[in-house]
Amino acid sequence: MTITTAQPVPAADHGTYPEHPAGRRVLTGDRPTGPLHLGHYFGTLRNRVRLQRQGAELFVVVADYQVITDRDIADRLAEHSENLVIDYLATGLDPESATIFAHSAVPALNQLLLPFLSLVSIAELGRNPTVKDEIAHSRQSAVSGLMFTYPVHQAADILFCKADLVPVGQDQLPHLEVARTVARRFNERYGAGVFPRPRALLSAAPLLPGTDGSKMSKSRGNAIALAADEDETARLVRGATTDADRRITYDPAGRPGVAGLLLLAALCQDRDPGQLAEEIGDGGAAALKRTVTEAVNEHLRPIRARRAELAADRGHIRQVLRTGAERANAVADATLAEVRAAMGAVGSA
Ligand code: ATP
Ligand code: MG
Repeated sequence: MTITTAQPVPAADHGTYPEHPAGRRVLTGDRPTGPLHLGHYFGTLRNRVRLQRQGAELFVVVADYQVITDRDIADRLAEHSENLVIDYLATGLDPESATIFAHSAVPALNQLLLPFLSLVSIAELGRNPTVKDEIAHSRQSAVSGLMFTYPVHQAADILFCKADLVPVGQDQLPHLEVARTVARRFNERYGAGVFPRPRALLSAAPLLPGTDGSKMSKSRGNAIALAADEDETARLVRGATTDADRRITYDPAGRPGVAGLLLLAALCQDRDPGQLAEEIGDGGAAALKRTVTEAVNEHLRPIRARRAELAADRGHIRQVLRTGAERANAVADATLAEVRAAMGAVGSA
């Protein structure tokens, strides 16, 4: 199923789903700013789980330092981080083979950042559309250096494990371009073949709208969380922005609110949103919202049940992060040693 979104997908080198996932190295991650939502689930989580089941090697970063890119205080960081891990496991990630770790637990990531920063110009960072968008939604009055250099941090997160595939939402494509640029320039300057050029992997729903018709985001009050209960889901869907036209049609550009809801129900039921619109016909927004609520609740029921079980054992979740940090540190230290050696750095002696 190919889904059209309100915003066109930019022309970038983003990969289609690989023919042979086994042995591929995959890196993805999320900021612990709140519970994961349906945008994450259909945007990247399902691809992560599918890749893992087909034999890819997964690294998943809980990007805790990156929380303070757009706000002064990282609120309830430990709780949000553990909840991310619960969401990962509930949706099917297997911590036995996936390396799930917190950014702040892997110091070598920040050592990689320094040479990487030297490979990117200020003008390039200033032009990055995702940085501009994140600055526009930032809770800070002034743009910090950390926010400005966000894509380079992400390049370190991706390149430390030499990932060649990065399942992300559409908003991350400009960041991926920075990671590709950093990899290429490092290899040109210091020695061919140190880093692969990572490719983005978009899903069929690269930019799922939230209940207000704009990108569903943890921090924008427009998200339906995986962890929400059925009544809360119904309330959130009832409050979604639609329009007064009783005839339901799938028109992402002209009717983003209605289209977002149709897309959500269609994804949950693995159907075509246009067909679903025809079925609802003249039922208006009320019928549409009833359909969406049922579709979401039904689809998420087993995930939510698993979530509740996992949430009862926080000790296990913390252990997953500890084991992940050990594995990630070993990989990051090896890459850092290679980087230092390629640069002829004193620290490599
Ligand atoms: P925040 O508002 O705090 O930035 P977020 O909801 O944007 O949170 P992130 O942690 O920034 O979530 O994004 C994690 C991953 O999920 C990224 O790959 C991002 O592209 C993807 N993603 C986030 N929201 C959506 C969405 N609405 N549709 C598709 N993918 C999404
Ligand atoms: Mg975001």
